[in-house]
Amino acid sequence: MTELHIEVWERCLKVIKDNINYQSFKTWFSPIKPIRLDNNVLTIQVPSQFFYEWLEEHYIHLLRKTIKSELGSSGRLEYSIVMDNSANQADPYTIKVPTSNNKSLNNPAIAMPIDLNKGSNKEIPNPFVIPGLKKIKIQSQLIDAYSFDNYVEGDCNRLARSAGFAVAQNPGKTAFNPLFIYSPVGLGKTHLSHAIGIQVKNNFPDKTVLYVAAEQFINQFIDSVRNNTHNDFVHFYQMIDVLIIDDIQFLAGKEKTQDSFFHIFNYLHQKGKQIVLTSDKPPVELKGIEPRLLSRFKWGLAADLQVPDLDTRIAILKKHIYNDGIEMPEDVIEYLAYNVKTNIRELEGALISIMAQSSLNKKEITIELASEMIEKFVKHTTREISIDYIQKVVCDYFNIPIEALNSKTRKREIVQARQMSMFLSKKHTKASLSTIGLFCGNKDHSTVLHACRAITNLIETDKQFKSHLDEIDKKIKM
Ligand code: ADP
Ligand code: MG
Repeated sequence: MTELHIEVWERCLKVIKDNINYQSFKTWFSPIKPIRLDNNVLTIQVPSQFFYEWLEEHYIHLLRKTIKSELGSSGRLEYSIVMDNSANQADPYTIKVPTSNNKSLNNPAIAMPIDLNKGSNKEIPNPFVIPGLKKIKIQSQLIDAYSFDNYVEGDCNRLARSAGFAVAQNPGKTAFNPLFIYSPVGLGKTHLSHAIGIQVKNNFPDKTVLYVAAEQFINQFIDSVRNNTHNDFVHFYQMIDVLIIDDIQFLAGKEKTQDSFFHIFNYLHQKGKQIVLTSDKPPVELKGIEPRLLSRFKWGLAADLQVPDLDTRIAILKKHIYNDGIEMPEDVIEYLAYNVKTNIRELEGALISIMAQSSLNKKEITIELASEMIEKFVKHTTREISIDYIQKVVCDYFNIPIEALNSKTRKREIVQARQMSMFLSKKHTKASLSTIGLFCGNKDHSTVLHACRAITNLIETDKQFKSHLDEIDKKIKM
């Protein structure tokens, strides 16, 4: 027989599931464990303080309604917060949160009794450290300017930012391990991942933090294999307390590097060390990453950064202007924020070029100057061209569905579109032949090589073909 508290909670979950989207449900409700039902008070266990705060802030109404409908108007909810993931922790700290009182939302008396650092600040002596041997200092590779202070909060980044902050307060001890941050370029992944590292260093100066770009990780791995120092490579990474790897999508198709990373990941995760990853796509959409790694990426929290709204863009510009101690008319700031929408890097680029123009050429900062600079700067930004994008342009041009490229079909027009995509990917991206193959119908590198030769031949022999290709090429670069 199922116990009553489990039954009640399962019924609640059914209702909740119908009321929120799948991803939120998975993130915020799946990890909750019902503990007991006493005197019509249902106690649920949540993995962290942050988790509790998030539920209270975003789902309190839904929770309250659901509890009422299951337990009647006297029904109440209590949270039990796990303060430390490590198994030897005594009973989780329990606090009472009445569901019938909305004032509790912002009532510090409820949030305060919990000591965030309870149990996590004490250093447990490591039996493996030989006395007298100093801990090797590792350069964290963190950029000071990429701090939380300089990271403007907005709806576009609220979840990722607060999760990042929670992780920095309690690295390795929240449910967000790994913390997986994803977005298209220029929306603040690198900045946020540095901010987490910096904050950890501020909170826990003794912790070893390492920021590394995935490309750097890959090169280190390749060097270590070449120099027969692979063990050192792995050991080095196993010493890290907070490992931040930026742009993890670059591991696509690099099986050996992934294998090595898999072992490092497992080791760190098991030891309660924090892992932070960034990517241009959510885990489910990452291609060329082994399933066993992908499934681990989903263990923690995947949070995206979205395009900032106008107010956030204005706030970001003002932060820069303030930090640099410069002055700029309000209408110019608004004009900039209004016109550069989808990429914060471009927004900052436009700002910098305005500053440069005005100081070098002694031009007054006006909307006209801003407009000139946007025209010049934003258009001249070299957009990163992706294989996905190339495929889309090719398929649009020939009016064929993108899925056809990945199918097994040998229809002439599809084969040709696939080969063109491969050829153009080789031309416009830095991806390896095997990565291109993987994205274009799961082919191997020799197929891609063959495609590149076939297309080169056609360009030389078939004028009409060449003009089609040129047109597509132009569209890609547009
Ligand atoms: P990504 O890694 O996603 O391509 P970056 O982290 O490099 O993006 O961000 C691009 C630029 O935008 C950086 O200069 C960064 O400081 C700035 N930026 C991004 N998000 C914010 C934010 N929320 N507040 C302030 N600056 C931001
Ligand atoms: Mg980046």
